[in-house]
Amino acid sequence: MTSTHAFWLAGRQATGEESFDVTNSWDGRLVGTVSVPTEAQVEEAVAAAHAVREEFAATPAHVRAAALDHMARRLAERTEEIAQLISAENGKPIKWARGEVGRAVSVFRFASEEARRFNSGEAQRLDTDAGGTGRLGLTRRFPRGTVLGIAPFNFPLNLSAHKVAPAIAVGVPIILKPAPATPISSLVLGELLAETDLPAGSWSVLTVPNDRMPALVQDERLPVISFTGSAPVGYAIMDSAPRKHCTLELGGNGAAVVLGDYASDEDLDWAATRIATFSNYQGGQSCISVQRVIADAAVYDRLLPRIVAAVEAQVTGDPSDPATDVGPLVDEAAARRVESWVDEAVAAGAQLLAGGKRDGSTYAPTVLAGLPDGVTLASEEVFGPVLSVQKAHGEAEAFAAVNASQYGLQAGVFTHDIQAAFRAHRALEVGGVIIGDVPSYRADQMPYGGAKQSGVGREGVRYAMDDYTYERVLVLTGL
Ligand code: NAD
Repeated sequence: MTSTHAFWLAGRQATGEESFDVTNSWDGRLVGTVSVPTEAQVEEAVAAAHAVREEFAATPAHVRAAALDHMARRLAERTEEIAQLISAENGKPIKWARGEVGRAVSVFRFASEEARRFNSGEAQRLDTDAGGTGRLGLTRRFPRGTVLGIAPFNFPLNLSAHKVAPAIAVGVPIILKPAPATPISSLVLGELLAETDLPAGSWSVLTVPNDRMPALVQDERLPVISFTGSAPVGYAIMDSAPRKHCTLELGGNGAAVVLGDYASDEDLDWAATRIATFSNYQGGQSCISVQRVIADAAVYDRLLPRIVAAVEAQVTGDPSDPATDVGPLVDEAAARRVESWVDEAVAAGAQLLAGGKRDGSTYAPTVLAGLPDGVTLASEEVFGPVLSVQKAHGEAEAFAAVNASQYGLQAGVFTHDIQAAFRAHRALEVGGVIIGDVPSYRADQMPYGGAKQSGVGREGVRYAMDDYTYERVLVLTGL
C-alpha cells in the first residue's frame, strides 16, 4: 500500500502541484509519492521563519527543551514503524535502520539537555590593561539567523535530526531539505514537531527539487547553511554563497590502521570483524565506512585472511530480513558505478580477494589488495561495500598512508600502545581518531566533521549549537 506524503510548511501539512515517487532499491516497489512545494509555498515558509525568528529566540529554554524531550520520546515509541520506513526507502538493512532511530532519539535527548545549560556565558576581566580599568566583559551567544539544513540519503532520519535538534535547542528557525531518495523518513520528523508547542513558522520540512535549490541557497533570510552530502555539491553551495555561514559535512575514504603490537589472535579477530562489518554496513554508504586498511607488515599476513573470511561471512540480501548485513545500494546506477571502479582497479593489477560482483542494485562485499596508484578507487570515496588492504612498514609509514588522501574525516587505529595513540592523534589529518576501533565509530554528542576535503565546521549537538550562534560581548563601564 502506498500513500502521498505532504510536506511541512511553517508547521502545517501542505501539498503542491507536483509530486515524485520514492522506490525501494531492493525490489523496485513504490514506497510513497511525495508532494513538491511550489515556489510560492517555499517563499511562504522562508517568510514565516524570518518573521518568527525573534519570538523563537526569546522562547524560554524549558519550553524548547520540553519540545526536544517530546521528540525523543515519540521517536522512541515509533521506533519499529520508522525503522521499517527507513529500510524501505533507503534499502538499509532493518537492524541498522533500528539503530539509526535509536541514535536520533539520543540526538534529541542530548539537545534537550544542552538547551537547558546553553548560553550561561562567562565574565571576563578587562582591567588587566590600564584601558580596561573599571570595565567588565560578559559574553553570551545569539542566533546567526534561520538555518537551511540540507540532508543526505544515507542516514535520512539521524542526519536530519542533527540539523533540527540543535536549531530548536538554541531557538533558531530551520528549513530542512531532505534528500530526494529518502524524504519520507525526514517528513516523519514533521509529524512529531507538529505535536509540540514550537511557534508555527519556526520549522518547515520542504521537499524542494535540486534544480530549485539555488534560490534557497542564495536567499539572504537564510544566513546559515548546514549541509551534509557529497564534496562537489557542498563546495558548489559554499562557493555560490561565500558570505554565508556554511557547515559542510562531506565525504571520506576512511582508513583503519592496524599497528604491529595489535598481534594476538584475539586482537586480529576483533580488528577483522570490525573492519568487515563497517566497510559493509549500509552497503558501505557511510561517510566513515572503512575503505582502506593499512596493516603493519608484522601482522599483515595473519590479518588479511581474517578480513577476507569476515567479509565473506557478511549476509547480503533483502533489507527487511533481520539476518541481512548488507542490502542494496541506493539505486542501480550507484551499484554500476562501484562495479566500474572495481573493474578498473582489477584491470590495472589489483588482486580481487572477495566479492567483485553486482546483482541489480546490490554489490557484493569486496576485498582488494595491491591497489595500484592512479586508479579511481585509490583516491575517491567509493561509497560502496569495497575495501582495499595495504601493507605498511612501521607506524610512520602507516600514518603517512592515512594522510595520503584528499579526505580527512575520521581514522581508526588498532593499537594497545597509549603513546602510539597520542602520536596518531597528533599526526593524522582527520576530524576524529578512534583508538581500538574502526573510523566508523560516532557518538552523536561528540564533535564530528572533517579536515581537508571532508568539510568545514563540526556537528555533534553542542558543536552545531555553537555553529548556529555567535558570541556577542557586553562591556560594562564604570564599575
Ligand atoms: P548529495 O551531495 O548528492 O546530496 C546531498 C543533499 O544535497 C541532498 O539533499 C540533495 O538533494 C542536495 N542537493 C543536491 N544538489 C543540490 C544543490 N545544487 N543545491 C542544494 N542542495 C543540493 O549527497 P548524497 O548522495 O545524498 O549523500 C552521500 C554523500 O554524503 C557522500 O559523499 C557521504 O560521504 C556524504 N555524507 C557525509 C556525512 C558527514 O557527516 N560528513 C554524513 C553522511 C553522508
